[in-house]
Amino acid sequence: MTLRWICGSLLAVTQLISAQSGQGQAPAVPTSPGLTGYSSPSAVIESDWEKKFQAGIVPDNIRENMRRLSARPHHVGSPYDKDNAEWMLAKFKEWGFDAKIEVFNALFPTPKVRVVEMLQPTKFQAKLQEPVLSIDPTSGQTAEQLPTYNAYSIDGDVTAPLVYVNFGNREDYDQLDRLGISVKGAIVIARYGSGWRGIKPKVAGEHGAIGCIIYSDPEGDGYYKGDDYPAGGWRPREGVQRGSVMDTDYPGDPLTPGVAATADAKRLSVKEAKTITKIPVLPISYADALPLLSALKGPVAPDSWRGALAITYHIGPGPAQVHLKVVSNWDIKPLYDVIATLHGSDDEHWVLRGNHHDAWVNGASDPISGMAAVLEEARMLGELHRQGWTPKRSIIYCAWDGEEPGLLGSVEWVEAHVDELKAHAVAYVNSDGNDRGFLFPGGTQDLQTFISGVARDVQDPETRMSVFQRSHLASIAKAKDAEERSSTRKRSDLEVKALGDGSDFTAFQDFAGISTLSVEFGDEDDGDQYHSIYDDFYWFTHFADTDFAYGRALAQTAGTTMMRLAGADLIPVDYSPQAEAIAKYEAELEKLLKDKQDEFTERNLQLREGVFTAMADPRKPSVPPPAEIVPPYMNFSPMKNAIEVLKKNSERYSKALAAWQAKGSPALSDQSVSQVNADVLKVSRLFLNEKGLPERPWFKNQIYAPGAYTGYGAKPIAAVREYMDAKKWKEADGQIPQVAQVIETAAAGIGKAADDLESAIAQLK
Ligand SMILES: [Zn+2]
Repeated sequence: MTLRWICGSLLAVTQLISAQSGQGQAPAVPTSPGLTGYSSPSAVIESDWEKKFQAGIVPDNIRENMRRLSARPHHVGSPYDKDNAEWMLAKFKEWGFDAKIEVFNALFPTPKVRVVEMLQPTKFQAKLQEPVLSIDPTSGQTAEQLPTYNAYSIDGDVTAPLVYVNFGNREDYDQLDRLGISVKGAIVIARYGSGWRGIKPKVAGEHGAIGCIIYSDPEGDGYYKGDDYPAGGWRPREGVQRGSVMDTDYPGDPLTPGVAATADAKRLSVKEAKTITKIPVLPISYADALPLLSALKGPVAPDSWRGALAITYHIGPGPAQVHLKVVSNWDIKPLYDVIATLHGSDDEHWVLRGNHHDAWVNGASDPISGMAAVLEEARMLGELHRQGWTPKRSIIYCAWDGEEPGLLGSVEWVEAHVDELKAHAVAYVNSDGNDRGFLFPGGTQDLQTFISGVARDVQDPETRMSVFQRSHLASIAKAKDAEERSSTRKRSDLEVKALGDGSDFTAFQDFAGISTLSVEFGDEDDGDQYHSIYDDFYWFTHFADTDFAYGRALAQTAGTTMMRLAGADLIPVDYSPQAEAIAKYEAELEKLLKDKQDEFTERNLQLREGVFTAMADPRKPSVPPPAEIVPPYMNFSPMKNAIEVLKKNSERYSKALAAWQAKGSPALSDQSVSQVNADVLKVSRLFLNEKGLPERPWFKNQIYAPGAYTGYGAKPIAAVREYMDAKKWKEADGQIPQVAQVIETAAAGIGKAADDLESAIAQLK
């Protein structure tokens, strides 16, 4: 898995930026507030070391790391996966880290039988195979490549009429209902895109389908986007996206929810595991999909359902009859997490950095473009250490195994170490691949001021403006209306977007309550071979970050982030942006309620008026939507009151920081520093409720969580939000008091930190 860049108006952004640099205008960007959390004496020393660090990052080293790590297929359980882990272990040791490999054992199915064939109206056998290309040297490593499949599909052997379901989201099934088409007893074919792939078989099964096929339409990542591979970088005709379809109840090993998958862990049976799909599913190329889609009749698909194939898209059902068969080897495979520590002078506090090292095949882009830069960061930190630099806090570099199947390596490691992590971890910084373009940080907004400061001090390799400036201007270009543009212009920081899951930050943020950042560049891609055999060194060095300029920018950004987090006198948090974000999430809930009330009131009125009957074309059968119960009012007051206290205490903390800066940030007493840090370390944990989300107890964080039906996407305040999405208004209302309680507790924690910071400043001469 990886976070995919889903931002749209790339062209607009690049045009705006080239226009601006062409005119030589200096954009109005707020000036640097200095290093958050640093006293002025330590800031001077820190800046010096950071400059040395950034100057020492070498793109050719990143290229060489990628060449080595992506030289052979290295999925979980493969020989080269272990080989890579051992090679990285040796490297970390060579660079002066205290490094080890921690092994876990998790369920990882691999395919034994895969069949997709059409029996009616004509016979067709899908190839289910990505061809070797002579120009691409690693595409021929067929003996080591995992076949094209979706991991954690249940075994099954089904034959049924085919139905096209667009992206296969819940809204697509509402549309099918309107057309009077049921998928009960059918096999559905969905296209990739618009949400996480695992949602497609989940929702299909909930609607009575007995099988699911997912294909890559060229509109998403093929010839519609640009020249396809190998002439260009986009997915070719027979390219297939592998990927996990593990259900969203909990990430990690399906057999050991909530506890580490150690050798002697108590395990569920495969039958008991809740995260395996309910119906069989396989991914295919559009070369394999085209005959199936062409054989469908029934209504023509709505405009927005059509892809870029040269056919009229019909929905079915049938007359295409399809046979789908999936059988897997349900083996337990070892995971090799490489954990490397550079001990700080204060070993009590840890700053963690991670990227996964396993791939679906060679994985040059996903994940090695991230991992290769992470290694270069570690090399250079080791080099600084040799020159006399020691971080205050300990720095822990993690190369995770088993991310692709379901965040296996990081989840099991966090589950194994959760108590220590809660006692010691200051923050976790993730990446999962990297490309050319912009930095749009994700994470918890207590680090928003901090990461904006880092971005000011790294140069963008293409425009030579700061990474901050470029991202800030890109946010103006991407703003959806004049109001958003105007508020973006006034911002003094980059907006940190909430993360759901989809990469290795998940267990840190959602399970252990650790402040999190996701740092990657992207959005200027010239192609995509996501989870294909063609995501390899040849492809990456011809079509992606070919000179590793952005690999260097990632290492500089994330390495500076690590140094700065590890070296600050005060843990460099600032709570006001987080309080603002939580207030916004609450306002979104209120708006959602209002929108649903309006929508259902209007719909019920139109049903009574006969609008749907009047609009129905008898030649195109349609069914009016069902009448809906208009949602009752909910009582958001407890949450709003709690957020008021959160805002007030956060502002006090921000003001105290500003007052310290206004005095020139003189050194604070050791005792006050350790008091404030002890307060701050606790705060992010206070957003947890150990009972977890009502329907997904593994997810403890009451602010940050993924949606059960969005997969990667964040659903802030999920305890309330998910019930609202399910139209369970009473249950949603019932969750508000406990979320309010969590926010109040966190607000009190911030209040305590503000008290202690205020008195530390009052003690200054
Ligand atoms: Zn990845």
